[in-house]
Amino acid sequence: MTIDQHQSDVLIIGSGASGLSLALQLAGHAHVAVISKADVKEGATFYAQGGVSAVLDAEDSVESHINDTIDTGCGLCKSDVVEFVVENGRKSIGWLIDLGVNFPRLPESDGQEFHLHQEGGHSHRRVLHAADSTGKAIESTLENRTRAHSNIELFEFHTSLDLISRDGRCVGAYVYDQVNDRVRVFRSRCTVLATGGAGKVYLYTSNPDICTGDGIAMAWRAGCRVANMEFVQFHPTCLYHQEAKSFLISEALRGEGAQLLLPDGSRFMEKFDARGELAPRDVVARAIDHEMKRLGSDYVYLDISHRGEDFVIDHFPAIYARCIQYGFDLTREAIPVVPAAHYTCGGVVIDKNGRTDVEALYAIGEVSYSGLHGANRMASNSLLECVVFAHAAYKDIRRNLDHAAPLPSLPEWDESQVADSDEEVVVSHNWDEIRRFMWDYVGIVRTDKRLQRAKHRIRLLQDEIYEYYGNFRINNDLIELRNLSLVADLIIESALRRKESRGLHYTLDYPAPDPGVPARDTVLQPE
Ligand SMILES: Cc1cc2nc3c(=O)[nH]c(=O)nc-3n(C[C@H](O)[C@H](O)[C@H](O)COP(=O)(O)OP(=O)(O)OC[C@H]3O[C@@H](n4cnc5c(N)ncnc54)[C@H](O)[C@@H]3O)c2cc1C
Repeated sequence: MTIDQHQSDVLIIGSGASGLSLALQLAGHAHVAVISKADVKEGATFYAQGGVSAVLDAEDSVESHINDTIDTGCGLCKSDVVEFVVENGRKSIGWLIDLGVNFPRLPESDGQEFHLHQEGGHSHRRVLHAADSTGKAIESTLENRTRAHSNIELFEFHTSLDLISRDGRCVGAYVYDQVNDRVRVFRSRCTVLATGGAGKVYLYTSNPDICTGDGIAMAWRAGCRVANMEFVQFHPTCLYHQEAKSFLISEALRGEGAQLLLPDGSRFMEKFDARGELAPRDVVARAIDHEMKRLGSDYVYLDISHRGEDFVIDHFPAIYARCIQYGFDLTREAIPVVPAAHYTCGGVVIDKNGRTDVEALYAIGEVSYSGLHGANRMASNSLLECVVFAHAAYKDIRRNLDHAAPLPSLPEWDESQVADSDEEVVVSHNWDEIRRFMWDYVGIVRTDKRLQRAKHRIRLLQDEIYEYYGNFRINNDLIELRNLSLVADLIIESALRRKESRGLHYTLDYPAPDPGVPARDTVLQPE
């Protein structure tokens, strides 16, 4: 392997909604490098179906959006952050539209500009969408703009493996160039983690393969605090089909009247929550989990066929087409669905500018813990968070860039002590094992005993993985496995520390919120 160095004003690790929104704003003032672990589009953003939340309806209000977000967050939202994000909703949507994102407009006779969906937790229709492919519309526009910008350099199939700090300040990252099989040094006056979430730590997930928690792991190793990792959102409805790889069935279907059914055709959600199918996701996921376990069933059903063929195809064309591909016709029948890990509510602790604990290191989007979601994320607030925090970080970085100290020279990546891997099976085996026991022991319903089992296993595996990492030449799978094992450990540790059920963290040992103490974040600090 050879080495080479790259230098930019700002290094952005990740090319989803958060990373590219930031890159486009900074590029007018600074030279920006964006690196992406796969093709630029490949991230959660591209697959987002439901939409972006914002107060756009005359009947709706900023206060109502704030209150719904705080209610869903079960006592752990930071109210100033919620206000900040919600108040910037309309402006952020305007920015996306100006950029060219095509949210279809309604005819003037409808009296409102856009069709808005309603999703769980929202008390109004406020989810702006581009049919059921909102993420694709956003990501494609951001990508086209990014590729056309002369001040942004894009590095696809480059995996950041560790941040580089000098005197407490982040000065870049080591990056593995997958195509040329070499580690490069990326030096930068400011570095931003926009690496998305960690859904791949679970066996069943709606997340694409890139979501292995790399940013959280890198930030932790660099000395940043990580908070609230126990709050993993399980999406209640992914298509149950061997080849579908947990294809998500958007919550917007339930917003438009889709019903959850048991195999005998009866509804069950009202037994669990008066809001029925529109209860928050954690409630719906737990109800499904409960019914599946009670009946020994692998899935329940979701039925929207009563809304008629035209309505279903018009509102959900992409979901309809994918279901047809797998042999299910949404317009005529109920489809089998299961819950799957969907969103990482916890992450790298940041302030309202996206700053982490390490100087010149920022984190934005799903990798971060800003305080917006608290113990549970309200649907469609996350894309909004990406755009709002990209703008906040842009302002802060721009202010500080001129004062950044000169970059020191950095050492090359040293692999003189490592050999070619002798047994790749170690990587694939450990990868499968982590995802399986995280699903079984640290999933939708937890107990202390299950968590202790998981803790024991992750420690054994980590010893093996770290030893392997120290002895053999790295590749993409090994980088991801090392990060996945660390993130699994952080989730287990956080879950063990929370001796109550709250939001997305549900444990049979403490089935209610602790009334004795005020709600507190679980903040882990690297030693
Ligand atoms: C199926 C699905 C549907 C969703 N629907 C909605 C919705 O309707 N509304 C909503 O608000 N939210 C939705 N979400 C959540 C939302 O899409 C994400 O929270 C959001 O897109 C995250 O954006 P991001 O920029 O933080 O990360 P991502 O879009 O996930 O991008 C992460 C980027 O980081 C890169 N990366 C990761 N690790 C490395 C590394 N080590 N080195 C280099 N690059 C790296 C990846 O290559 C990628 O470019 C959905 C999520 C999924 C999975």
